[in-house]
Amino acid sequence: MATAVAHYAAAAATDCGRKRSSNEDAFGFSVEHGFYVVCDGMGGAAGGEVASALAVDEMIRLLTGRDATHPLLDDGAQAIAAANAAIFTRAQRNHGLSGMGTTLVALFAKDRRALMINVGDSRGYRMRNSRPSPRLEQITLDHSLVEERVRLGQMDRLEAERSPFRNMITRALGTERSVTPDIFELETEPGDLFLLCSDGLTRELSDAQIESHLKLDLPLQGLCARLVEAANQAGGRDNITCLLVRAEAGDKTAVAVPGSED
Ligand code: CA
Repeated sequence: MATAVAHYAAAAATDCGRKRSSNEDAFGFSVEHGFYVVCDGMGGAAGGEVASALAVDEMIRLLTGRDATHPLLDDGAQAIAAANAAIFTRAQRNHGLSGMGTTLVALFAKDRRALMINVGDSRGYRMRNSRPSPRLEQITLDHSLVEERVRLGQMDRLEAERSPFRNMITRALGTERSVTPDIFELETEPGDLFLLCSDGLTRELSDAQIESHLKLDLPLQGLCARLVEAANQAGGRDNITCLLVRAEAGDKTAVAVPGSED
């Protein structure tokens, strides 16, 4: 496509779901600074909520405090390391928070270049305007026990869904002194729609169901609300968070749609 990507628009929503008493998911983004993040915390007491909020806050602090000339890869790697250190240090100081951690899926996007970074089982997808119709593609690979066994051919998808170990993640932010994220480098086209989400969405809805909702002609905030509503209707067994980012052709003005919650 000849038209260059000139700006991004974003919206997000998070919801406690129907079964949980607290929301351990967190999200944050800055269209101006070109980063978007969703975290799903875990740990006893208030650990999960603290870990996911710390990761998001630390990334916002680091990335909004610097100019835009840094390469995406530097920004991404440094933000993940800083968020990991912030959680790990807090957990060391406070025994009540010991062992807390969080998943993280983040998108860094500047002009036509984008990076998707993940740790744990929160996912990043891209829906592209391919013919005959837009197609949703999972970009990230879950760091979870069952998904890794599926990839190795040791378990099929049905067994994975029924496994008592399906909640076990194999990598998390903040539980060790350092962490190795997966990093996916992408070239963006106008019209690309990125979805970052917690497993409260993907456990309730299949990729085909998510794709059909995303094809609806709604503003981004309306699409987020629609996904949350659909996950709740399917059971709402966990906290649900989705963040949508669209690459748009046009002038350089950044358009930010506020999320439903800070
Ligand atoms: Ca979750």
